[in-house]
Amino acid sequence: MNELFIGILYIVPTPIGNLSDITCRALEVLKNVHLIAAENIRHTNFLLQHFNIKNNLILMNKDNEKKQTENIIEELKKGKKIALVSNAGTPIINDPGGILIKKCHILNITVIPLPGACAAITALSASGIINKHFCYEGFLPAKKKIRCDLLSSLKEETRTIIFYESKHRILESIQDIIEQIDKNRHIVIAREITKKWESIYGAKANLMLQWLKEDKYRYKGEMVIIIEGFKNLKKNNLPKKILDTFSTLRNFLSLKTSVLITSQVYDISKNNLYKYAIKKKNDKST
Ligand code: SAM
Repeated sequence: MNELFIGILYIVPTPIGNLSDITCRALEVLKNVHLIAAENIRHTNFLLQHFNIKNNLILMNKDNEKKQTENIIEELKKGKKIALVSNAGTPIINDPGGILIKKCHILNITVIPLPGACAAITALSASGIINKHFCYEGFLPAKKKIRCDLLSSLKEETRTIIFYESKHRILESIQDIIEQIDKNRHIVIAREITKKWESIYGAKANLMLQWLKEDKYRYKGEMVIIIEGFKNLKKNNLPKKILDTFSTLRNFLSLKTSVLITSQVYDISKNNLYKYAIKKKNDKST
């Protein structure tokens, strides 16, 4: 059994634009911890000054994450309370800190996460896409080939897909979505969320590209791309991935249970699966 350390690591989300979005609890933690591990000292100092908080900062970014993890762990072992913050939003979500959290768990050091701003979830909530299942894919890869391969692999993903993207690549990425997924797929771009020029705009992929090209201010700043999941409009023409899951389950489970599990996992109608199963049985017997 590992020794029980008394230090605590707090994961503290910070605003993604509007400073008023910080929580009372986040301010309390930032004020009272012994040390704040920040992705960017200047950035976090600006935030602390805004809220009249004075505290000690150490830098932890992707370049020094491994080394700094060791230093922070030493402080936690001494019983220190430390807050982890990134430049904006929730630490770890496409930000450094994952190695530190993992090490804390290994050493039984308490990790306390605070809820707060996250661009992906805020964008998803405003997307107007109705689907309780979603997947978060982080940044779209910068290299075209890798980006296209990834998009192609997601063509039949039935969950809503969330990507982070930069203004420098957005036009190319939408073009790739058109080519690899579907020109008619509905997408939403949530840009500059909580900031002065916030915009949430949804359209079919080809119309989105046209709309963006009409005005370069439409793709300025920070943005999240949300892609509506694959919808099978042709009856009984279910994606291979779904049919494979169903067939695997069917090897071990009853028809009813296999249909129930598959329909719940992929959020599709049970009827289509029953029809598929009947057709498959008929095909076998003829
Ligand atoms: N940890 C952050 C979070 O919880 O959202 C994400 C950090 S990631 C390095 C930064 C990316 O998040 C940006 O490039 C952009 O894609 C997205 N993002 C951050 N703030 C945003 C905002 N206000 N509006 C739209 N997207 C934003």
